[in-house]
Amino acid sequence: MNWLKLDRRSLLRGLAVLPGMGVLMPSSASAAARLGGGRRNVIRELGVRTFINAAGTYTSLTASLIPRPAWDAMTVASTTFCPLQELHDAVGKRIAELTKSEAALVSAGAASALAIGTAGVVAGTDRDKIRQLPDTRGMKNEVIVQKSHRNGYDHAVRNAGIRMIEVETAAELESAIHSRTAMMFFLYAANNRGQIGYEEFAKLGKKHNVPTMIDAAADLPPVENLWKFTQAGFDLAIFSGGKGIKGPQSAGLLLGRKDLIEAGRMNSSPNSDSLGRISKVNKEEMVGMLVALEMFINRDHKAVWKDWENRCNRIASYTRGVKGIKTEIKVPELSNGVPHLHVNWDHEAVGKTPKDVAKELREGNPGIEVRPRAEGELVVAVWMLEPGEDRIVGRRLSQVLKS
Ligand SMILES: *Cc1c(COP(=O)(O)O)cnc(C)c1O
Repeated sequence: MNWLKLDRRSLLRGLAVLPGMGVLMPSSASAAARLGGGRRNVIRELGVRTFINAAGTYTSLTASLIPRPAWDAMTVASTTFCPLQELHDAVGKRIAELTKSEAALVSAGAASALAIGTAGVVAGTDRDKIRQLPDTRGMKNEVIVQKSHRNGYDHAVRNAGIRMIEVETAAELESAIHSRTAMMFFLYAANNRGQIGYEEFAKLGKKHNVPTMIDAAADLPPVENLWKFTQAGFDLAIFSGGKGIKGPQSAGLLLGRKDLIEAGRMNSSPNSDSLGRISKVNKEEMVGMLVALEMFINRDHKAVWKDWENRCNRIASYTRGVKGIKTEIKVPELSNGVPHLHVNWDHEAVGKTPKDVAKELREGNPGIEVRPRAEGELVVAVWMLEPGEDRIVGRRLSQVLKS
């Protein structure tokens, strides 16, 4: 049965008559098992495709699944009222301790942390300036960045009304600093691409008394990164809440200097007349972020790593016998630094390119998302799989490659 060929209306009709037909739908068995007690699965009711995530923490694929204890904390929080700013204070204080930072706040994703962190640096705690943003007239409004560190997410930094000043060498950076310099920005994923590494960058900021911010959104694990950057001298460090930490997708972390975190808070929700009011964080995200972070920090990192390697090896073992098959476990040095299975085969002998295989996996039952690479290989991310799903991925991959 090709589920994807059914149109939505017939799907809804089918559901109305046969509420139990969920078993036919392409989805992970574990996702189905989580439903009980008559709770509605609205995603399925609406006929929206679900799948096993062997692609990784892509926002457009909903990235990660929140672990049950964090989810339970969010559900409990959702049934009570509390003063939001007091919860913000308390959660921030606890997260600061956990991450060995001076201060911390939960933002609406890493992108939001980039924007409100920058707003805090530019406008500070001055109410008139906070109201004036993103108009930065009369404020320091230049952010220095290495050319190779420009990226789509720095749109969030620019949201605060600043202008990016691109440099390449340390000498260029030092001579670019002047009275209008508000901040220096670093993208950790580009640490190997620029001439200035993260440690030297932080030192240059200190030397010239310019606040530094680092975007390390996708660089957990390793867990030590939570404190590595502030310890290296960055004034602000940013992480995504819903990638490696598996917290709420709509949460992120802004860690660092107390005065700048406070300024970031003032430039954001719930303060109505602020730049960050558009990225609201409520109690559910705050407590979910905290519990997920505790779980992330306290887990047995070696055992989890071993489990990821085992998953890769199991999936690889299913593909034995495919013409020209080559599998290799690789760990990206920066960004998503966890074991991934790279799969190569003889495209002509098998008669399928990685793109073809990814499409077949997506449209199969259960649906599986993987990312084909331009280099002609398929990359299987195992860290967002639920227990047992590696075997399903291995079996389906071998079926598609052998058929
Ligand atoms: C994913 C990512 C972001 C955005 O993170 P969200 O939590 O989805 O807002 C920002 N910067 C980098 C480098 C990222 O990889």
